[in-house]
Amino acid sequence: MIERLVGFDTVSAKSNLALIDFVQNHLESQGARCRRSVSAEGTKANLLASLGPEVPGGVVLSGHSDVVPVEGQPWDSDPFILREEGGCLYGRGTADMKSFLAIALGLVPEFSARPLARPIHLAFSYDEEVGCTGVHGIISDITENLPPPDMVIVGEPTDMQIINGHKGCFLFETRVTGQAAHSSQPHHGGNAIIAAGRLIAFLADMAAARRAAAQEGNPFDPPYTTFNLGQIDGGKAINIVAQDCCLTWEFRPIPGEDTDAIVATFEAYAENEVLPALSEFAPGASIVTKRLATVLPLAPEENGAAESLVRHLSGANASSVVSFGTEGGLFQAAGLSAVVFGPGSIDQAHKANEFITLEQVAACEAFLLKLRDWAAA
Ligand SMILES: [Zn+2]
Repeated sequence: MIERLVGFDTVSAKSNLALIDFVQNHLESQGARCRRSVSAEGTKANLLASLGPEVPGGVVLSGHSDVVPVEGQPWDSDPFILREEGGCLYGRGTADMKSFLAIALGLVPEFSARPLARPIHLAFSYDEEVGCTGVHGIISDITENLPPPDMVIVGEPTDMQIINGHKGCFLFETRVTGQAAHSSQPHHGGNAIIAAGRLIAFLADMAAARRAAAQEGNPFDPPYTTFNLGQIDGGKAINIVAQDCCLTWEFRPIPGEDTDAIVATFEAYAENEVLPALSEFAPGASIVTKRLATVLPLAPEENGAAESLVRHLSGANASSVVSFGTEGGLFQAAGLSAVVFGPGSIDQAHKANEFITLEQVAACEAFLLKLRDWAAA
């Protein structure tokens, strides 16, 4: 099944419908109840499949169907043809994160072999790798159409270790529009680069304030909300007052950070401090910030249902936090207990010759069979 799923080229920019068709056929032939939520363009879909009784209290096994691109990476073999060598399976998505989904799919006959007292739901999302934008459809489907499940296990690669917290990631584009003029006549224009520079300095100040206020004992690395300015594009020539400047920037909040306040503070500074100066000689000037994507942080839960179950079934008694984002925070924000726990290592994700060890595959299979026993009990 890992070979089958890796064989679908589901790089985020492409359609995942061939994979979803295959998975849905497989699941429906085993008696699963399937629901799809489709992207606005209709080229991608989420799949939510349910096994067992239509009652509350089930578990959602969740993963994303898309993978990151392979272009420019020195692969030793075709990334979309699974290759086994030296106890490892190589291919794009083996670690991140088709193996988790494939192992669950392969076990559906085992899940159905005994009457389940609690439902097991399988969730396949699209566009996780471009900012967790597809999973919103699954979350709506779950909260609107399913008897409430108790918990979500997000099977991202954690080496089968419990991850109960991660930072979020908020991505933005800010487009500054001033007015071009001859550089000798700045009083006939509005310089978008100068305005953007003030915005950049403000973001850097916000970042420095959070670093200075870092809490002792916070488990994240680094232990505070970080900011990044990723791209800047502005101006036409040295002797023209720059009319346009575009920035992309992000911040990665620790759980508990007031993310609305960060956005509101930035917007207020742009509106009240920067825009008036920019528009002094450029009445049509504007500063427009667009949210590109939102990955919410996952906060460790006190006695959370998801973590408790995974601890109980896996025997793991430690948990930790990571810096990469997952769909877990979005499930948690929708009121579902969530934990990140899956086979393979994030160290292999997004790289050439991505792989998962057969040992991790076996460990995941054993875990999911214990989960089946729990659901059947
Ligand atoms: Zn992933």
